[in-house]
Amino acid sequence: MSINWFPGHMAKARRQIEESLKKVDVVIEILDARIPYASKNPMLDHVIGDKPRVVVLNKKDMANGKETDRWIARLKAEGVYPVALNGKEPNVLKKIENTVVEATREIFERMERKGINPRAIRAMIVGIPNVGKSTIINNIAKRKVAKTGNTPGVTKAQQWIKAGTKMELLDTPGVLWPKFEDASIGQKLSLTGAIKDNVVNLDDIAIYALKFMQTHHLEGLNKFYNINIDANTEIVEIFDAIGRSRGFKMSGNEIDYERVTERVIYDTRDAKIGKLTFDFAQEEE
Ligand code: GDP
Repeated sequence: MSINWFPGHMAKARRQIEESLKKVDVVIEILDARIPYASKNPMLDHVIGDKPRVVVLNKKDMANGKETDRWIARLKAEGVYPVALNGKEPNVLKKIENTVVEATREIFERMERKGINPRAIRAMIVGIPNVGKSTIINNIAKRKVAKTGNTPGVTKAQQWIKAGTKMELLDTPGVLWPKFEDASIGQKLSLTGAIKDNVVNLDDIAIYALKFMQTHHLEGLNKFYNINIDANTEIVEIFDAIGRSRGFKMSGNEIDYERVTERVIYDTRDAKIGKLTFDFAQEEE
């Protein structure tokens, strides 16, 4: 699912994205709607420059709807063209097409004024692993074209696929590295499945998830695990409560903390406990 990123991979990915960028009118950057800040590649802004950019907040079905609306407003204010999607739904092509047309309107109007024949809008999809790039490409192409992004950068043999009537899309996505800035970003990336579980401390992830829900989703947390904690409950007591409620015990009736940790991570990752967005649009980053 994910890649271990080395400096060589990063340099290669950057070079390949820069090459592909020359061929397209617009870049479609896929972010995870649950972590629009943490799932952004830190270098992309530099290489995209002034090229129009559509930002897809994907997996909106797992994110907090109100927060997604706030992110859309923030991204619009930043001058990009955002759209929130569930990459698996049938309306993906239409939504992306509409946004791409809007993002490139000026370029095509200018071409028209110069008497240049209209042609399809050329686009490419980029993003960090696991945000849903392949799902979206396959959905748009109505067939299986993109291998799930396991290679940094873009694979060599790129082809254009017709996407609707107005757009052509490069069939392989640009795979970019995630942020490695600080522990909390790593925790968010792990909690949403963007980085491998074995590169992070699972206890820290579960603690992060539980504290986040204790603060922002207390009722949902209590209900899902059938527990009764409050805003002041110590973290170890939350683990105990979940362990007891789920019957995660070892011999001697001790709580099996490892099982609690795994359960909490998977339940959060699959949005079973609730639709949560971990990056706030209005927070100072
Ligand atoms: P890529 O690495 O960016 O190409 O990501 P994939 O397309 O392989 O998707 C990663 C995982 O997310 C897969 O299990 C997809 O089924 C899932 N996925 C993609 N888009 C969505 C979405 O909008 N909602 C949900 N719930 N899952 C999605």
